[in-house]
Amino acid sequence: MARLEVNQFPARSDNYGVLIHDPETGATASIDAPDADSILAALEEKGWTLTHILITHHHGDHTAGNKRLKVLTGCIIVGPKEEARSIPAIDVEVSEGDSVAVGNANGLVIETPGHTRGHISYLFPEDGIVFVGDTLFSVGCGKLLEGDAKTMWSSLSKLAKLPPETKLYCGHEYTDKNCQFALTVEPENDALRARAAEAAALTEKGEPTLPSTIGQELATNPFLRPSSPAIQKRLGMEGRELWEIFGETRKRKDKF
Ligand SMILES: [Zn+2]
Repeated sequence: MARLEVNQFPARSDNYGVLIHDPETGATASIDAPDADSILAALEEKGWTLTHILITHHHGDHTAGNKRLKVLTGCIIVGPKEEARSIPAIDVEVSEGDSVAVGNANGLVIETPGHTRGHISYLFPEDGIVFVGDTLFSVGCGKLLEGDAKTMWSSLSKLAKLPPETKLYCGHEYTDKNCQFALTVEPENDALRARAAEAAALTEKGEPTLPSTIGQELATNPFLRPSSPAIQKRLGMEGRELWEIFGETRKRKDKF
C-alpha cells in the first residue's frame, strides 16, 4: 500500500533533491544530499523533520550536504558499504539485500555498480518507487567512471526487471539532451520520439521530466534496449552480446 509522500526539487545546477516522508511516523529521508541549503528549504516548506539521508554513491554532488545536515538535524546517514570511506559522516553501511527503514516504509538495497564501484539503489516495493542515483537516467544512464560495460549492464538489467509501473527517481535532469542522443541510435522508435517531444516541451518551460517509470524507460531508453533490432543494425552489431551493444552505445554517447 502506497504511503510515502515524495517531494522532488532542483538542487545545484542540474541535480535533483528528493525527500520521502512517512506520514504515520513523521520519518523523513533525503535521497542523497546534493547541498544542505536546498534540502533545508524543502524541509521547511513541507514542515518535515529530517531523520535519514540515503546515499547512492560517493560523488560530491550527492554527499556535499551530509555534514551540515547531520549537525543541524542529527539524522542517520546510510550509504554503500563499498564506498563508506568516501562518504562524509556515514553511520550505517549497507549492501545488496539489506533493508532500510524510514518510519514504517521499508527500502531494499540493490547494488548497481558501474558509474561508481559501490553505487546502490533504494527500492521501496510497497510504494512502487526506486531511487537510482546516477545509474539510470531517463533515456540515459550514468557514465562508466569506475566500472566496465559488463558491470553496468548487469546493474541496469536488475532495474529493468522491476515491475514496469515502478516510479523512477534519478540524480539529474538530463532527459532532453539524452533524447537528442537516443534519436541518433533509434530514430524509428515512436515511443522515443513522443518522449523527446514531451521532454523538450517540459524543459522549455523549466519543468521536470521526472519521475519516469521503468516501463517508459524500457520503451525509450537506448541503454535498456540493446536487444532492439534497429539499434543492433544501426551499430552494425547484430547478434552480439547485449552488454557489448550497451557498451558501444555508451561509448557513442560519451562522444556525442
Ligand atoms: Zn555521480
